[in-house]
Amino acid sequence: MKVCIAYPALNGKASPMLTQNRQFQWMSIGSYIYPLVPAYAATLLAEDGNNVLWHDGIAEQRTYEDFLRELESEKVDIVAFETKTPVVKYHWNIIDDIKERIPEIKTVLYGDHVTALPEETLLRSKTDFVLTGGDYDFSLRGLVRWLRDSSDSPPGGAWWRDDRGEIRSSGPFRLDSDLNSLPFIDRDLTKAHHYYEKWKKREPFRYTMVARDCQWGRCTFCSWTTTYNNFRTQKHTKLLDEVGHLIENYGVKEVFDDSGNFPTGKWTYDFCRGMIERGYSDEILFTCNMKFDLLVKHPDLIDLMVEAGFRKVKSGLESASQATLDMLDKNIKVEDIVEGCKMASRAGLDVQLTIMVGYPWETKSDAQRTVDLARELFDQGYAEMLQATVVIPYPGTPIYEMAQANGWFRFDPAEYERFDMTEPVLTTPDMTPDEVQNMSAQIYKNFLSPRFVVRNIKKIRSWEDISYLARGAVAVGGHIADFWKVRK
Ligand code: SF4
Repeated sequence: MKVCIAYPALNGKASPMLTQNRQFQWMSIGSYIYPLVPAYAATLLAEDGNNVLWHDGIAEQRTYEDFLRELESEKVDIVAFETKTPVVKYHWNIIDDIKERIPEIKTVLYGDHVTALPEETLLRSKTDFVLTGGDYDFSLRGLVRWLRDSSDSPPGGAWWRDDRGEIRSSGPFRLDSDLNSLPFIDRDLTKAHHYYEKWKKREPFRYTMVARDCQWGRCTFCSWTTTYNNFRTQKHTKLLDEVGHLIENYGVKEVFDDSGNFPTGKWTYDFCRGMIERGYSDEILFTCNMKFDLLVKHPDLIDLMVEAGFRKVKSGLESASQATLDMLDKNIKVEDIVEGCKMASRAGLDVQLTIMVGYPWETKSDAQRTVDLARELFDQGYAEMLQATVVIPYPGTPIYEMAQANGWFRFDPAEYERFDMTEPVLTTPDMTPDEVQNMSAQIYKNFLSPRFVVRNIKKIRSWEDISYLARGAVAVGGHIADFWKVRK
């Protein structure tokens, strides 16, 4: 079968940040995060004897017409793409358009929105199949096998319409596939060179995803809790082998593991020792997502991580208010986050903090405290990078249900296109929507502080550092513009 894994171009407000199914945002300066699960899907399907096309109209900056032409000229049998709340209506229209032009093609949607509301997509569009759950690499392979061989049964979590137009489902999605059985992603097929972190330091840069998705997995705002309800990881030796494969075959110099939360405990100690023993620590820089309470519990691990080539950890500050962290079920104390930042930065690890404003219980002074704490950590050099967003309650998350129960929505929540971070979705006690957006922009304005600028100029040692700072400055300008362009 010919299967196309796609991100069709979207003619929206700017460049859509859709991949990896976390927070969606239209960005003035595009951000192209590697969609790891779809990349695994392409790899598994090719390995299973299918002819696979990878079409990312967003990262490759191709047009929508290009996409339709490619489906037609390549005689694609199945086209599958990831969707998310703010763009699900775009995708319904695209699918209706495709079905109009190529009626015989089968269309598949996956992602957190359709996991939460699978029937809606079948009722409101001509989509043939919805795959729920986060293992849509395994489930897409299962679906293709079912359609191709008709002997197998459909994968768990699949939804479709039968010949009489009635909606059918194969039951709840399953997350019991063995991640150690996955091949290395085919990074040529999936054009991995198109994707990068704005904050990468070295090139070539590549992504990995050793785990799905987070040991904690309970934060009430987190989209990953909709698609993953358990935590699994590959063996540490498999990630070491993959790092070696990337160095040997692509000359990779920086890797970002984009698991929701990097494995911890003995696994990480073993991984770090392996990086040192195999000499990879001298060849690459490594970054991962990690909760600070896990670091604070293992102070000796930080030094080992630095020795193993770790450059940066990304972690959620979310708020300076303990009451907010508790409402979010973050299971962490503000002091632990601050202490984690200090420990990591003193050991030589860069810290990137993600921060949110606009919680429906958050007062202006709460939000200001968050902005102030972020500024303090940044000014002291305990955080090297800040990433700010407005809280968005995606369907399927506990905070979405809380918003429904408490009447927190500012508008009809069926207006999905307004969940695109250009305005708050939730009411706040004493902030206007513009004030919420401006709080986000203020966090980015910390990058303009003289102390930060001087500190970074002092750190310049090479052309690599200059290029890193220049890219950072452009990206920050884009973020400030994104949040400053508040509702008109
Ligand atoms: S720690 Fe991060 S990845 Fe894990 S549930 Fe919370 S927000 Fe999601």
